[in-house]
Amino acid sequence: MECSNCRQPIIRNLTILEYLLPIRSSAELCLDCQRKFQKIPITHCPMCSRSQDSSSVCLDCQAWLRVYPEINLQHTALYQYNQGMKEWMHRFKFLGDIQLAGTFSKDLRKAIIRQKVDIICPIPLAEERKNMRGYNQVEELLKAANIPYQLLLAKNENVSPQSEKSRVERLNMGQPFHLAKEINSDARTILIVDDVYTTGRTILHATSCFWTYPKIKITTLTLAR
Ligand SMILES: [Zn+2]
Ligand SMILES: [Zn+2]
Repeated sequence: MECSNCRQPIIRNLTILEYLLPIRSSAELCLDCQRKFQKIPITHCPMCSRSQDSSSVCLDCQAWLRVYPEINLQHTALYQYNQGMKEWMHRFKFLGDIQLAGTFSKDLRKAIIRQKVDIICPIPLAEERKNMRGYNQVEELLKAANIPYQLLLAKNENVSPQSEKSRVERLNMGQPFHLAKEINSDARTILIVDDVYTTGRTILHATSCFWTYPKIKITTLTLAR
């Protein structure tokens, strides 16, 4: 068995269950890599999952609420966007290391199943960017976690990627998404999934695409915050 982040061999004794059921074991991290990633602590912002010392609404979310008092953000993030996560994300997104899609599958799957939603919808990439990279990293995370999803959102073309913009430019950006198709009328809950929550703008824009369906409850989740 090897570490799903650094590919070093992991040497450990099998658990009794693994010994009895020699099935494909899911991705594992070596001890060194486990230390590089930090889960979101119990005290975090109830709206955006930002790690902090209190469970009150964080300053970023208070700012959003002043601009958009109607938002009802219910965001779950699994890991802190620390140095280890930034490096992992860089290799996964920008260096094309698609094998990394499975690194956090176990946690991702658990967190998504816990939400008990009707539809899971990844944040889309612009076609051009998807063709360049060869994959949408969010779809790959879901595939690796064996989570079925629907591409309900599409990216408007000619909006340059966030990483090339300053924070102010990002906040001033227009809506980058539109609904790609009608939603099954039975759906009552949709979970929007992205890789990382930075300013919240992407998540808020994506959420607002569904405001034409007021009966559908939207929640959001990212691997990192
Ligand atoms: Zn490792
Ligand atoms: Zn917040």
